[in-house]
Amino acid sequence: MKILKFGGTSVGSAERMKAVASLIHNGEPKIVVLSAMSGTTNALVQIAETLYQNNHSEAKALIQALHDKYKQVVEELYITNDKKKQANELLTQHFEYLTAFTLDLFTIHEERAVLAQGELLSTALFQLFLEEQSINSVLLPALSFMKIDENEEPDNAYIEKQLRKELEKYTGTELFITQGFICRNAFGEIDNLKRGGSDYSASLIGAAADASEIQIWTDIDGMHNNDPRIVKNTYPIAELSFDEAAELAYFGAKILHPSSVLPAKQKNIPVKLLNTMQPEAKGTTISAEAEGGRIKAVAAKDGITAIKIKSGRMLLAYGFLRSVFEVFERYKTPIDMITTSEVAVSLTIDSDKYLNEIISELKEFGQVEVDRDQTIICVVGDFISERSGSGLAIFESLQHIALRMISYGGSKNNISLLINTTDKVEALTKLNDGIFDRNSADA
Ligand code: ADP
Ligand code: ASP
Ligand code: MG
Repeated sequence: MKILKFGGTSVGSAERMKAVASLIHNGEPKIVVLSAMSGTTNALVQIAETLYQNNHSEAKALIQALHDKYKQVVEELYITNDKKKQANELLTQHFEYLTAFTLDLFTIHEERAVLAQGELLSTALFQLFLEEQSINSVLLPALSFMKIDENEEPDNAYIEKQLRKELEKYTGTELFITQGFICRNAFGEIDNLKRGGSDYSASLIGAAADASEIQIWTDIDGMHNNDPRIVKNTYPIAELSFDEAAELAYFGAKILHPSSVLPAKQKNIPVKLLNTMQPEAKGTTISAEAEGGRIKAVAAKDGITAIKIKSGRMLLAYGFLRSVFEVFERYKTPIDMITTSEVAVSLTIDSDKYLNEIISELKEFGQVEVDRDQTIICVVGDFISERSGSGLAIFESLQHIALRMISYGGSKNNISLLINTTDKVEALTKLNDGIFDRNSADA
């Protein structure tokens, strides 16, 4: 069984949906995970914001505008009037459901239900299209198997058991269509795997179904060596190890959700990143067997806060670091980078939710300094077998940029550098020119 995930742009219009249908229909059984059509989740977020503000007339106008967009998709997607009628009835149900939220107080639970409508709509419309084309397919409701626990971690045992149960109901089926992104939480409520979470759905499903391969189909020909939204002349990387891909996803390569590599790695399932606009391109293969030996890529993660705790008296004392880490643990705030010196320890976090509480507890240990608007630049590759002075090339490229922290040796795959976000574009551009050997480029 293969898992194929198609992102927002890949199902972003009637034309794109038709292209996806022809890509997936080759007789082999597969689970197809779809995102919401591009722009939909953003529109639903905006609807939720206006509902929070009790701006019901604006919310109704936004819901109407989205409904109109979908009516147009229905016109273009189906041939028969019968299917158009069925699809329009489906739209009416979903948009009446959304409109009902304009009558009452809006809560976080309702926000999640609103956000789920995008994937529910794209999959239902796509399934109707496959039916019209007489393609053998079944719509699998993700809400009946995808679940997170009280720590917002996937409940793998439940997912596996429920998914198998659902699949067994329809033996002999070629295509199973399901929603990315959405899930139930520990209370059984509708929830989600955070923005970009359909990639994560695909790898959780792949792991649960013991898939032979997970394919992430998107709008670019694989993982590039640098952020193509910021830097010109980037190129796709043919092979990445699971660890390299995980570092890149975690440190800002938007093509993959930050958590999406781990489930595939745990089950040793290769992940392919492929381009729906250019299906013949070879894309990127992420596996345990990737070739090593060189710098592969750079990524950048914004929204980082650096915290420095200065305490000459206590730093070398046994148990000091543990006490510091316990503060972050109490507030469920993960630490990304850490460096220590004789008199201070610096670390970074990407969530400011409990920053005030964390700072006031840390003040018990010494003087605390906080720097916001920081960016982690993460250089990924094989730094153990790399013998060509890659460190030198990195530092030479960044010689005019203030480096706030440097982390090396945590894993063999990663050198991380903390800079001011205002220096990000320059840093990524300089690294692109300075550290990649274009002769060994994959493209
Ligand atoms: P989808 O909607 O298919 O999930 P995303 O927009 O989430 O697509 O991810 C694909 C986008 O990720 C690309 O269009 C590209 O702009 C962006 N991106 C950022 N960094 C990278 C990278 N290193 N390699 C490839 N794409 C990247
Ligand atoms: N539709 C969701 C989002 O836009 C999930 C995804 O596309 O992966 O974030
Ligand atoms: Mg995405």
